[in-house]
Parts: sequence; structure tokens; C-alpha cells
Amino acid sequence: MSAEEQNVRPPAERAAELREALNYHIYRYNVLNAPVISDAEYDRLYHELKQLEAEHPELISPDSPTQRVGSDLTEGFATVDHPAPILSLSNAFDAENVREWRKRIGRLLPEDAALRYTVEPKFDGLTVVLTYTDGLLTLGATRGNGEQGDDVTANVRTVRSIPRRIPVAPDGPKPPHTLVVRGEVMILKDDFEKLNQQQEEAGLARYVNARNAASGALRQIDPRVTASRPLTCYAYAIVQADGPVPTSQWEALEYLRGLGFLVDAEVAARFDDLEAVVAYVESWHDRYYDLPFEADGLVIKIDDLRVAADLGVVGKDPRGAIAYKFPAEEATTTLLDVEVNVGRTGVLTPTAKLEPVFIAGVTVSNATLHNYDDIARKDIRIGDRVIVKRSGGVIPYVVGPVVEARTGDERPIAPPTHCPASGDPMVRLEGEVAYYCPNPACPERVFRNIEYFVSRAGLDIEGLGAKIVALLLEKGFIRDEADVFTLGARKDDLLALEGFGEKKVDNLLRAIEAAKTRPLPRLLGALGIRGVGGVVAGLLADAFGSVDGLAQASAEAMATIPGIGPEIARAVVEWFSAPRNQQLIEKLRAAGVRLEAGGRGEPVVGPASAVLEGLTFVLTGALPNMTRDEATALIEAHGGRVTGSVSSKTSYVVAGESPGSKLAKAEQLGVPVLGEDGLRALVAGASAPGDAAAPDDGGAPAQPALL
Ligand SMILES: [Zn+2]
Repeated sequence: MSAEEQNVRPPAERAAELREALNYHIYRYNVLNAPVISDAEYDRLYHELKQLEAEHPELISPDSPTQRVGSDLTEGFATVDHPAPILSLSNAFDAENVREWRKRIGRLLPEDAALRYTVEPKFDGLTVVLTYTDGLLTLGATRGNGEQGDDVTANVRTVRSIPRRIPVAPDGPKPPHTLVVRGEVMILKDDFEKLNQQQEEAGLARYVNARNAASGALRQIDPRVTASRPLTCYAYAIVQADGPVPTSQWEALEYLRGLGFLVDAEVAARFDDLEAVVAYVESWHDRYYDLPFEADGLVIKIDDLRVAADLGVVGKDPRGAIAYKFPAEEATTTLLDVEVNVGRTGVLTPTAKLEPVFIAGVTVSNATLHNYDDIARKDIRIGDRVIVKRSGGVIPYVVGPVVEARTGDERPIAPPTHCPASGDPMVRLEGEVAYYCPNPACPERVFRNIEYFVSRAGLDIEGLGAKIVALLLEKGFIRDEADVFTLGARKDDLLALEGFGEKKVDNLLRAIEAAKTRPLPRLLGALGIRGVGGVVAGLLADAFGSVDGLAQASAEAMATIPGIGPEIARAVVEWFSAPRNQQLIEKLRAAGVRLEAGGRGEPVVGPASAVLEGLTFVLTGALPNMTRDEATALIEAHGGRVTGSVSSKTSYVVAGESPGSKLAKAEQLGVPVLGEDGLRALVAGASAPGDAAAPDDGGAPAQPALL
């Protein structure tokens, strides 16, 4: 039904319909932990009901979802009273909504009131209320219905970023006798990915949604289960205190940080002017994906907490703050069909063909369906209305079906019994969720292998894209990766192809010739051995020095190298034992491809060491002679860690050309900044990196001890 059709209905009828729908979705979400509509759609329905009720106050009924805050009370936990209501926020969906909010509260303020605002992330996690008595964590509760929550103290104690005693540092501020702090428990994006990798390795289904995984973890009856999940908590507000605490939100954040809580430093900012706030929140539209945590918007708060408190609440929403929601990342559409793709390792990946739908600025008509186990678990069917999510940089994926929208004509999706490209019977390895085509000569696998071999991630042969690879295969000019290096003898054949002029062919042949002497790690990575990406390829190249050396190495010998697990070792041995691959290596040798270390630019990684152990790096901007992957590999090979965001715990920021906001953040926090040469010097063990560009030159921050 279209929006117009909805609007001509009598308001009372529409309100009843919205109430019923919203209550149902609240139940699905909070009790069953199985939402069937996206958050964005929920927000739209909720907003529509709120507006309808604002225009027709007589329609407000006690069971309206607008008259309560969502409850997530769970059986099996003791219920505890919150010292003050844990309020929700009203939403703004665009700049105009923010200005309207300012206008509304303006009527309640003295005319000359000058307001400051803090802006913070709107964490997409689970709210917790933490009570400290004489500095000791004595109670941890969920938000529940806002008045009462579940007592999850035992579980909260397992979350490492929640201090059990404050202040954590002996020189931190002394908290009052009772301090109640509000925070959000989440699984950070990196941790979520790792968690899902573990799930996959264990043959279990991936978690779809980090928030649901975090929520499930926090509400485990057995705290040991909670402890095994990578939960993180950001603190962001003082709910109650019986002694002096800051009266500005900005200072409250500083205070919480000083006590030892994890507090966001990446987004948080304070402004004197609402238009600056608007510009700031809008500036996050296309970069909030880079945050280490899930956020679905930003929160704008009146900085002066006394003014904010004086403004009071309307319904259940405090007037002194508003949530600014980012444009929707989810939408529902129809699943038209499922296309099966065969990857270079033979893995079948199902791709959803969708009725085109506009999500966060782009039209989406394809989305991944992860794997067939996932499809079966979520019971996704062809013809279903499905929720599709797209978050920046990530390929859109199908979250799940809207079961309620089924007509009965939907068709279940079965994994294919035979490879759609070669007709071979499909294989499923024990403990793995994927189905494979086992035939190395499968035309689709061969195509994907060659495509990868010459791609940017592989040998990087310019002018040899997927379309040309497909054409060369079709013409029979190449049959495997090594044949690419024999194309020089087929110059006349190439010139006869449509669109292939003298210059194009010359350039292509020159690029192919140059690819014969790529550094060994690149060649090893290009072979497409399962698990052998940039870092692993570098480690193997260092350890064995040549393709032949690696081919003769035993799995045991490989598995002793730090960073190489038994699975990768096994995959390498398996790869070299396949006759097709042995033949491929011989053909590469015969074609004059260098199979030993010693190429130009080697070694990027160098022998592994522990010189960077305990140090954390953040990369920003383009380095002159290294890709980001190479810089990461270099740091990791020497024991350092690379993270996505700058905090006071970051040891160094490595900045290249056109660095982003991370550089500014580093300067603000006094984190030392290095260039590429500085990084190399650090790896080489030099105690004072040559080009350490300390902020402001003045007070160069102390360098951490390097040895
Ligand atoms: Zn096949």
C-alpha cells in the first residue's frame, strides 16, 4: 500500500493499525530477538504514529508504544529499580528537524540564553546502568522499561572495559559515595568480524547483527558465556551522584574518562552554534562507517546539564537532547532470484537478485546471501520480501525475510547438487558451511583464478581486466595463469581481436613482461592458495625464499612460523600436491617468471621481529612507497597492532598524503605522528624515528620505549 493510500484512511483506523504493528515489532525485537522489519522502518512507523497523535491527541491510547519506553525485561533475572528514569530520545532525521528542536526548546528558555552543545555518537548497542558505591561496581542493570531493569551485575563484571573499581588510575578523581553511570555495551566491528570467523571455523552460523549478539551475550544466565564474548562498553552519562560531579556534559565525559571508563573521543565535540552542529552531524554521513563501533546516528545534547534538566521531559523524551539519525541503511524489497557464483577456490556463493531499491544513496539490485546454511537458518525464499542492509564500503547483504508478507507463492532455496559451470557433483567439507566444486579444471574456477592472478591483488598486470581474460579464454589463447606469459608469441592473434590496436597490444605485452619479476610474496599471493594473502605470503617468502623451497616444505615446518596456522600450512601443501598446480609452476618457470625472492622493492616486510610488540598504530592517508596492506603487514610482522581509530592508547599514527580526521585527532591527543620513513626506522630498531612530525614542534610528546 502506498503512502497516499494510507493517508486517506480515517486517522483513528491508521493509528490503531500503527499501534498494533509497532507493538508486534517491539515484541519481535525485544522478546524474540528476531526482528522482521529494519530499524529504519520501525522508526518511520513510530514517527508516523507520533505525528498522527500530535495532530489528534484524542487518539493517544494507553497501549500506544509512544506512551512507554521499550521494555527488555527478561525472565530469569532479578528486577532492580533505576535511581532515575533511563530516558530515550526523540529523533531528528534531517537538519530541519534539528532546527525545529532548537526552536521548540527556545520558547522555554530566556531569550538571551546562549547555548552550547555536545555531539556524541548514538551507539547501537545495549544500554547499561552501572552503580558504583565507594568506587566499587555494586550493580549493573539493563535499561529494561526505563524505570526498572534486569540485574546483570555478574555479566557486566566480565566486560573488561567496565572498571570494577574507580578511579582506575591512582591519580584519578575521587568519585562520590554513590555514582550511577550510563553506558552502552556493544561488540566492536573488528571483534564482531573475528567472532563470526570463529563461528565459521567452528561450522556454526554467523551472527547477523552485532547488537543482537551483544544483547544475547549480556543476558546470558551463565556469566562465563558472557565472558567468552568480546563485549565493550562506552560510558557517556552520569545518571545520579550524591556528591559533586561536573555540570556540563562535555566535562562529564572528561570526568568519566578520568575515572577509567572507555569514552568516545572520535566523534565527541562541543559547539557554540547550532549551525556548526548541523554541519558537523552532516559531515558524518559518509564517514561514520569508519568508526570502530556501530552507530546509527549522533546525539546532540545541551551541554549545560542544569539547563537541560530544567527543560524537563515531554512524554518520555528529555527536551535537552535529540538523536540525529543517519540516512537509512536498510530497506525491504523483493528477492527475485538467487544467482550462484563459483569462486576461484570452487566455493559456491549465492547472490540475491533484488528488485532495485534505493538504500543510503545508491540503488541496490544485488546482495550477498553469505551461504546456504545461512539461507536455511533464516528461511529465505525466492519471492520473499527481504530486509537488505548496506553499510558503507560493505557489500549489501540480506538480513532476513519479512515472514508476515508471504503470500504462499514463495519458493525455498536449495543448494545446487551440481556445479552450474562444470556439472561436477558438489562437495561439502566436514565442519565447513560452504559447498565446493572440486574440479580444478572447472571453467569458472579457471577463469576466476586467472582473473585473480593478473588482478591488482595479484601480479597487477595493467590492461588485463576480467573482460579481456574472459575473451582470451573464449578464443583459446590462454587456458591457465601461466599462458598469460606466452601471449607475446600471439601478437598477431591479439591484433586481430576487435578493439585491439597496435598500441594497446604493445602496452599489454609490456605489462605482462614486467610482471615476470614481481617480488616473491606477490607471486605467492597471486597463486590464490586458500589463506595465503599478503601477510602470510610475505612470511612464507621470508621463510622459504622461493616457490620451490615452499613446494618442498612440510606442513609441520610451515606451522612453526609465527602467524601461520596448521590450516594454512595444510592448504599450501595440498595446493602444491595437485598435478595441475605442479604443471602450472613448471610452465611459469619455462615462461621466464622469477620464482625466487630478490625482486625490486623487496622485502617490504623483512624478517619478522618483536620490535613493535605492545605498540598500537593507526594508519591514515597514502604512504609514498607502501600500500596500506603492506604497511599493516610490516607492523604486524614485527609484533605491532594496527587499529582503526585513534585514542589516547594509540602509540603512533602513521600519516601519508591527504590524511583524514585521524591526524587531527592524534594531534589533539598528543599521539606521535610518523611518516613512512619513521615507520621503517622504528622497525629497524632506531630509537628516534627520523621524521617523527610531532604536533606543533613545541612539546614533542614522549616516545614510548622501543626496546
Ligand atoms: Zn565447477
